Amino acid sequence: MDVKVGVLAIQGDVREHKRHLVLAGATPFEVRTAKDLDSVQALIIPGGESTTIGMLMAEEGLIEKIQRRVKEEHFPVYGTCAGLILLAKDVIGSSPARIGLMDITADRNAYGRQLASFEAKIRIAVLQGQSEFPAVFIRAPRIVRYGPDVTPLSTYEGSIVMAEQGSLLVSAFHPEMSGDIRIHQYFVDKVRKALKV
Ligand code: GLN
Repeated sequence: MDVKVGVLAIQGDVREHKRHLVLAGATPFEVRTAKDLDSVQALIIPGGESTTIGMLMAEEGLIEKIQRRVKEEHFPVYGTCAGLILLAKDVIGSSPARIGLMDITADRNAYGRQLASFEAKIRIAVLQGQSEFPAVFIRAPRIVRYGPDVTPLSTYEGSIVMAEQGSLLVSAFHPEMSGDIRIHQYFVDKVRKALKV
């Protein structure tokens, strides 16, 4: 069955996320307004600047609506990088308007301002296949605390860089910047399981 996955289209690699979703067997849809959100069964929040994204989401009423859908219907949301910050319950550093439903503390720009980007091969046990994932980090946050309902899915140099809590998934890196679609595949499979299709 068709699975329609929204990509928040305020900032970031919207086109690349859409392309990965198509390759993972889903139908992508750009989400800008609260009305757009009604027509999708899940949402990806791309990286960018979390303060800006959070402010524009709040103006559109998207924050409340996402919070409601997560609480009432276990709406699947995958936040990458700035998206991780927007899902985090607590944030170190200036703290943007956000969804705040995942029981983690995110340290913004934890890798320093200009150790801006790097790529690292990381192990993610839940993905199909044995190969490591080429993770691209861009001014990435770090998860510095997580609650009992959170499952860490991958660590890099001692910090958690991917985690899950119920219908919420986060990664500190940008999976859309590599040719590897396995994380999008994992998310789409998670959505299918949640919808039982
Ligand atoms: N550090 C950025 C922020 O605070 C996120 C960077 C990214 O999404 N690549 O919003």
